Amino acid sequence: MKAILIFTHGGPEVLEYKDFPTPEPGPGQVIVRLKAAALNRMDLWVREGWPGIKLAYPHISGADGAGEVFALGEGVSGWSPGDRVVINPSLHCGQCEFCIAGQDNLCTQWALLGETVRGTLAEYVVVPARNLYPLPVGFDEHQAAAAALVFQTAWHSLITRGGLRPGETLLVVGASGGVNTAAIQIAKLTGAKVYVVGSGAEKLELAASLGADVLIDRSKDENWSKAVFQLTNRRGVDVVVDNVGSTFPQSFRAARKGGRILDVGNTGGAKFEIDNRYIFSKHLSIIGSSMSTRKDFAQVMELVFAGKLKPVLDRTFPLSETRLAEEYLGSGKQKGKVTIAIRE
Ligand SMILES: [Zn+2]
Repeated sequence: MKAILIFTHGGPEVLEYKDFPTPEPGPGQVIVRLKAAALNRMDLWVREGWPGIKLAYPHISGADGAGEVFALGEGVSGWSPGDRVVINPSLHCGQCEFCIAGQDNLCTQWALLGETVRGTLAEYVVVPARNLYPLPVGFDEHQAAAAALVFQTAWHSLITRGGLRPGETLLVVGASGGVNTAAIQIAKLTGAKVYVVGSGAEKLELAASLGADVLIDRSKDENWSKAVFQLTNRRGVDVVVDNVGSTFPQSFRAARKGGRILDVGNTGGAKFEIDNRYIFSKHLSIIGSSMSTRKDFAQVMELVFAGKLKPVLDRTFPLSETRLAEEYLGSGKQKGKVTIAIRE
């Protein structure tokens, strides 16, 4: 099969479009013939590497993908070759105490497809059968692939972990990333009032088109937490969803007393300083969240299939041009998901 191989960490230049042996499905696994994949920031981080990451070279990244079942491993039933599917990239053992309790994103053997396990930037990928989800007739594979990781992440943080309720106010830190555009839509569907802080008119326009109620341009006003405070009559918002991390000091200030801070990522780097006084004196809850459970995945994907939640797609590149696609994603110019066309 054709695949995007990584033999060493580095910039986009280490991505090689090459032939690689088509994998075989083991017991309980299925091989999927991919039609579309979607990029995530994770793909760039894996390629660049971080201290302690151990990959079996050549590595293939890519968490998101959709296509059709090609062949079944031993003991797999309920699927047939040709079934159209989207992949849930949250890999879990299905047997540990957390998996049995339905908290499979806490699995003791949890892994993300494409992070340490070979992923979807290839013509074929092997995944456990329990990671397949059926694609409705006529639903586009690019849309499905673009939705899988970011919508489950946003749903689990806002709804399951954050307990967002109708009538609450939510501040989304960032206007255009995949998780943020998903969060805006989920919050509106829930009946929350959505504040968005983003950089520049174009990205805020996108947030507005998704239903955001109040837009704050941080390129004009770096002290955006003050703006949130003033716009909420000096109350602050009920919930802040922050996938940057380094923005926490401002997120703490923007939250109301007793507010919840949903920590869903670290696009701003792993380490930053916080002022602890904000946390206890404002009675803040900091709630970490990553990926989702199978139940959340099913719930949110059905809303995507029903058209109530819509992944925002930016550009599509052919598999052979994944290097350009990752350069584009790394540039930060994209407004929505970058997808990879693996076959027609
Ligand atoms: Zn488990």
